[in-house]
Amino acid sequence: MPIKNRFAELLPEITEWRRDLHRHPEVLFDTHRTSGIVAEKLREFGCDEVVEGIGRTGVVGVIRGKESKSGKVIGLRADMDALPMTEKSGVPYESETPGAMHACGHDGHTAMLLGAARYLAETRNFDGTAVVIFQPAEEGGGGGKVMCDDGLMERWGIEEVYGMHNWPGLPTGSFSIRPGAFFAAADLFEIVIEGKGGHAAKPHETIDSTLVASHVVVALQSIASRNANPVEQVVVSVTSFETASKAYNVIPPRVEMKGTVRTLSPEIRDLAEERLKKIAEATAEAYGATAEVVYERNYPVMVNSERETEFAAEVATRVAGDCAAADLVMGGEDFAFMLEARPGAYILVGNGETAPVHNPAYDFNDEAIPAGCSYWAELVERRLPAA
Ligand SMILES: [Zn+2]
Ligand SMILES: [Zn+2]
Repeated sequence: MPIKNRFAELLPEITEWRRDLHRHPEVLFDTHRTSGIVAEKLREFGCDEVVEGIGRTGVVGVIRGKESKSGKVIGLRADMDALPMTEKSGVPYESETPGAMHACGHDGHTAMLLGAARYLAETRNFDGTAVVIFQPAEEGGGGGKVMCDDGLMERWGIEEVYGMHNWPGLPTGSFSIRPGAFFAAADLFEIVIEGKGGHAAKPHETIDSTLVASHVVVALQSIASRNANPVEQVVVSVTSFETASKAYNVIPPRVEMKGTVRTLSPEIRDLAEERLKKIAEATAEAYGATAEVVYERNYPVMVNSERETEFAAEVATRVAGDCAAADLVMGGEDFAFMLEARPGAYILVGNGETAPVHNPAYDFNDEAIPAGCSYWAELVERRLPAA
């Protein structure tokens, strides 16, 4: 069962939707036009329920199968937001909004899920409920988290949730996935060391914040080398180190440091945060200084659950003939919040040999649409099989 014929028929129309979205990119939660179009189309397709304003500008559509014996509910998610950057792709449907661009292909994700929603609402050849989820603010705004906080999973009783992202460099319309940790958590920290400033020739009258901060920088490397199991990945990088003095002969009273922590498992992430705070505070204390630590958790590790990943790979193989094993990605992905809330799987669909995402020359490849739509439709029909 390769591509569903209906999507070959619908391709020109879905491509038109995609290019219209491309022309009018909207950033973060400001997806008002996009959300309006999505809601209007879902109603037009005959969805049983269409709700706007979940997670500020998020949209949810509910499609009930022709049977409802299973009582099962699954969620399919697409992101809608663009990036604050200037397009240089040269395509005829280039962005008409200065300083905004669909450089991550979320226009394609939205169009593909709309195409699948249309097919599912037409055919309803399944037993249970499919919930299509359109989220804003994937690019740094945590829109997925805001939708979950708004009760997305509970309100519709979603039991499993699935996501998809286009992937430049992967053959057009082919698929790739991995179970377990897939995208990294990328956290931020700030450490302020407070000592006692004074004359550089009289160090005994000071508490040298520079010396204390330097010991902290070195000691932080023990998290990766001595606290984490060596087979696990963790990166701790101090990337900014500023003293409160510009002079040759003044010991500064304070030092401000910034940095990032990258991890691939929730356990190592907890460990890194805990150790980072302890090391900074205890090292400072040992020298008579104080450390103030601010640790900000950004997107969590995105973890594909085993069973759902295996199932997603089977569906992809039915559509494309094969499903490749994906590599770990050190970038972050907002879908991680939905996968923390429910089991599910995130899959990559090939965008062919195009410019990479977040590049001004990037464009979503419309030739991937039939494969992406077929994956969504097949996923629902196989996860919720009708008698
Ligand atoms: Zn992106
Ligand atoms: Zn993206």
